[in-house]
Amino acid sequence: MRSIAEALDSMLPAFSPLGEEDVSLTESSGRYLSREVLACIDLPPFDNSAMDGYAVRAGDVASANRDSPVRLLVKGESRAGGPLPSLLEPGTACRVFTGAPMPKGADAVVIQEDTDYDDGWVDVREASPEGMHVRAQGSDVRSGTLLLRVGDELWPGEIGLLASQNIDRVHVFRRPKVALLSTGDELRQLGDALEPGTIINSNQYVLSEMLRALGAIPVPIPAASDTLPEIEAALRKALEADVVITTGGVSVGAYDLVQDAFENVGIEPAFWKVRIKPGKPLAFASYLGKPVIGVPGNPISAMITFEVLIAPCLRKMLGDPRPHPQPVVARLRHPYRRRPGRVEIARGFARREGDDLIVDLHRLQGSGSLPSFVGVNALVILPSDRAELRAGEAVRVLLWGPGLRAERSCFDDL
Ligand code: AMP
Ligand code: MG
Repeated sequence: MRSIAEALDSMLPAFSPLGEEDVSLTESSGRYLSREVLACIDLPPFDNSAMDGYAVRAGDVASANRDSPVRLLVKGESRAGGPLPSLLEPGTACRVFTGAPMPKGADAVVIQEDTDYDDGWVDVREASPEGMHVRAQGSDVRSGTLLLRVGDELWPGEIGLLASQNIDRVHVFRRPKVALLSTGDELRQLGDALEPGTIINSNQYVLSEMLRALGAIPVPIPAASDTLPEIEAALRKALEADVVITTGGVSVGAYDLVQDAFENVGIEPAFWKVRIKPGKPLAFASYLGKPVIGVPGNPISAMITFEVLIAPCLRKMLGDPRPHPQPVVARLRHPYRRRPGRVEIARGFARREGDDLIVDLHRLQGSGSLPSFVGVNALVILPSDRAELRAGEAVRVLLWGPGLRAERSCFDDL
């Protein structure tokens, strides 16, 4: 049976980016750049004032101080978005406001607070060296320089930078279409009548949301019953997507037919079973290079195996050069006894207490117990070889869902 690391090692090479598309900047959030972006204009695009005050020649006010201010004739004004100011003559000042273009000839700004205005003249009470309070053209970005690299994820900051460059379309890696095929005679869709012995196909809804959160496109396939012809037909349909995820029917029961169906359709198995709890019976296979993953039907097993094994692969496919989650370290509040042998991904609640992150494990840890994922913000990684974990012991935690939030602001004591 493979460790989680070995399973990831065999899976990751099957998930390469699918090529690129160009999208509008307003649709690009969360996508990964497939081409580098060079600056096409300087930022700021023109010399402008960082403050409200007067644009001056630094030399004219070099001797100014409180006791002997320098008097300058005020000629004209420049405001953000206003007409461009004319050349600043020696011995004069130009009224400026934040963001206003600097007049040619001016090389510094004196802030309004250091001046006194009187009937067309201004007394400057402080010297202002060359460049003071001036945002020079190109001081943030020079046209032609590298702005963003291949693999950079577009967050609001990156989108703002591109917008400031007047770049309205970007090349990003394509989003994989991921077919979701649930198997099981007992499964019903939302809104169906639940006759005795049937359950809602909750995996479908959970995994769709997990895919969407990553940036992949879920392609729901109607659930297949536990018969080979039906699973095979549904698999053929699912194989039109870029990746196939099946749920259920992948274990050793008499009605677990997914692996036989894989074989009949020509999907080649790579491995089956991973040392992870919950989620051991996980099948990884491929069809003409296309990844096919069979996760167990138990809802928590499906979610955990998706998060731990499938999500990093899909992030890689989306173009993320850092597809692996980084854990934080937390301390267990209570001791925990368990059967060693597999890495366990327990659900819990993490919160900061003083300088420590403290995690409480959920009282429910069953692989089928959907309430065990409600309100949870921590997936707690318990090493395979440990039978007993002590209270206060440090463990790795993957933040999940809402992450670390609090009722009180962290600025209260600052
Ligand atoms: P299986 O992996 O098919 O042996 O299913 C294991 C358990 O998960 C059984 O209790 C199933 O009823 C349940 N299950 C299977 N598929 C789903 C699904 N799509 N949504 C919710 N529960 C499921
Ligand atoms: Mg089943």
